[in-house]
Amino acid sequence: MQICTKCILPATFPGIEYDHDGICNYCHDHEPMKVRGEEKLMSVLDKYKNKGDKYDCIVPISGGRDSSFVLHQMVRKYQMRVLALTVDSGFILPEGFRNIQNATEALGVPHVWLRDEKAIATAKKNTVLKFQGWLRNPSIHTIVPVLNSGDKTMNLRMLRHAKQNNIPVVMGGNFIGNCSFEQEHWKRGYLGVYADDRGAFSTRDKTKLVFLFGMEYLKNPSNFKYPIFREYVTGGSVYFFERLFRPNGVDSLGFYDYIYWKEDEVLSTVRNELGWEGAADHTTTWRIDDSAYPLINYIYFRLVGFTEHDEMYSKMIRENVLTREEALQRVSRDHQSEWIHGARLRDSLEELGVTKEQLDKALDAYKEILYRTVLKKRCKALTIGS
Ligand SMILES: [Zn+2]
Repeated sequence: MQICTKCILPATFPGIEYDHDGICNYCHDHEPMKVRGEEKLMSVLDKYKNKGDKYDCIVPISGGRDSSFVLHQMVRKYQMRVLALTVDSGFILPEGFRNIQNATEALGVPHVWLRDEKAIATAKKNTVLKFQGWLRNPSIHTIVPVLNSGDKTMNLRMLRHAKQNNIPVVMGGNFIGNCSFEQEHWKRGYLGVYADDRGAFSTRDKTKLVFLFGMEYLKNPSNFKYPIFREYVTGGSVYFFERLFRPNGVDSLGFYDYIYWKEDEVLSTVRNELGWEGAADHTTTWRIDDSAYPLINYIYFRLVGFTEHDEMYSKMIRENVLTREEALQRVSRDHQSEWIHGARLRDSLEELGVTKEQLDKALDAYKEILYRTVLKKRCKALTIGS
């Protein structure tokens, strides 16, 4: 399959086109990532210091590398009175728990868990129903909403906790611990809707997405059950209109909007200072804390031949923080890693009541349809049938 000669995006990437030198439109349109800078961050943080009762800010921590780094910086470097907080939506992997414990202990910061047993039980049950229905009628547009059941109201719950405890600000990565390289809005591109560089959709595009996801919901009769309907409505409203539900008087900031994300610095800091560790069976250190992603990445890999890691490395190449050779080496390891092919995948499938054979059969059958429909429309550079 053709891939860009500058980054590594393949011809199955939504909206991709190559020029006569084989360079993709995403490379051509790339604008260097801009951050507001440390000076701005310090003056913003000054506004919040000693404003709350016991704490100046909440730092959400997922157990991943980037939120652990934010926690470290807020406590050690910027001397904020921090409350670490984790919303456990029932999908945190053991590596995540271990890293959360190590980080909060190493820094001596108080940590609270928000865990709603009833919501977790419903989310798990819904995921089984949704995934089994999805397998009967797969769609590339709904892989994430079907499998990632947990975290739709996560941000709101953190903000409400801040409000109740008179904590003036929640300091996330880009709010929930992603850096600006780690965004998955490109997945909406298969619907023909594209976000801007910061992952934001225009109001018109949001409306379009609500309509398109509504259609996706209706296409699958397995979705016509009240708990699933409720999850889609809540998820949709929060995803697209979260601002309307936010409590007043609590701000939210994204650390990586101010400080440029440097993978080496993030990793060496969290490893050396917080005892952070990646997953033994994974070749990357991103998103090793979320149990939905081995299966999500496996499905993307099987259907379109790449995962979100390829997209992230491509951005890093454009930003000159990773060479194309290194990126190619990384993806060849990632694509074959135990993480997406091994025990995690089998565990997820077992929980979902599906065998690997059933999954592969459904994906292979859908792949043929996918190439003739969605990819034909969205991936002009792809030679269908070759
Ligand atoms: Zn490119």
